[in-house]
Amino acid sequence: MKIKKPNLDELKSINKDLSKIPVFGISFFDKPGQNDQQLKPIIRQIDETCPCENVLKENDLILKVNKKKIKTAIRERATKEDIAKSDWTSCCKGPILKKELEENLWVCPECNRHHKVKPHQRFELLFGKGNYETFKTPIPKDDPLNWTDSKPYKERLKSARKKTGLDCSMVVASGSINNIKITAIASDFDFMGASIGAAEGEAFLYAAQHAIENKQPLLVVTQGGGMKMQESLISLSQMTRTTLAINEVKAAGLPYIVLLSDPTAGGITASYAMLGSIILAEPGALVAFAGARVIQGTVKQELPEGFQRSEYVQKTGFVDLIVNRKDTASTIGTLLSILLKKNSAISSEENETSEDTQQLSKVAS
Ligand SMILES: [Zn+2]
Repeated sequence: MKIKKPNLDELKSINKDLSKIPVFGISFFDKPGQNDQQLKPIIRQIDETCPCENVLKENDLILKVNKKKIKTAIRERATKEDIAKSDWTSCCKGPILKKELEENLWVCPECNRHHKVKPHQRFELLFGKGNYETFKTPIPKDDPLNWTDSKPYKERLKSARKKTGLDCSMVVASGSINNIKITAIASDFDFMGASIGAAEGEAFLYAAQHAIENKQPLLVVTQGGGMKMQESLISLSQMTRTTLAINEVKAAGLPYIVLLSDPTAGGITASYAMLGSIILAEPGALVAFAGARVIQGTVKQELPEGFQRSEYVQKTGFVDLIVNRKDTASTIGTLLSILLKKNSAISSEENETSEDTQQLSKVAS
């Protein structure tokens, strides 16, 4: 007897935890290493709520065989590559088709979680499809410290480049919002967690220079876990370099706008992410310096709910405005239009303002 494949509606109706069971051979566990103790309740739930339940109960032998199969499938979890190639990903309600997410700008229609987007997707969201140009930024010599941890840094770079098709995690582009030409930076989390090394520093400096030479505001969509430990002090020095570059942009009378996306952490938060003339954030984005567990261990206190999420960070004064992805381009456009009135250094073909400028004027002032 064959087990019937559950359809999408059935899958959606399954309890949240069951999003972790393998669907069509793909498992949605975030982290490998689940042991039997953790598997037991999941197996129990499979018995209780799996759409295959009726079929399974018809024959004890089949039940046994299939439980074993499910257990094996859970242990032999799909690799990150398998999940990346799959048509599915997971969110609050369990498996969700990537196509369905994409149609909603990679925002979950159920819980409004803003999923990570690639640099070209970000530029499309900001400037429109095909309405921007990207630049080739200088790439310094790889692996200056000849670093090896669990594997050589050179190998990590090689596989990150193969995976993303990029030379480094940062991409610089130029496009228009509200007819205002903008220089923008976005990062690819799939490139070693979008951590910062000399190459990303060069990309940032390139963008700052491009903004100054062309009298364009600079927009940075931040993402990444921090500085690349494989480049040690060289990566840490990018905090200073990016800060000096931002000072130059500001000295040229140009706005420097930051959009914090999930996750923005470590040295990124400690440098260019917090220096915006205006700091925007996507809902629910992790914005942190040190990790929550490290802080909890140090202060020995329970951390407040929503700690290090953009809504919390806004309350503590580090974020000016939280913007839904669908509103990002229009909000940035309006903010720049307001700033444009104040500052003649920005190049613009037209100066447009929209009706909801009042609230944004407050943010811009
Ligand atoms: Zn969701």
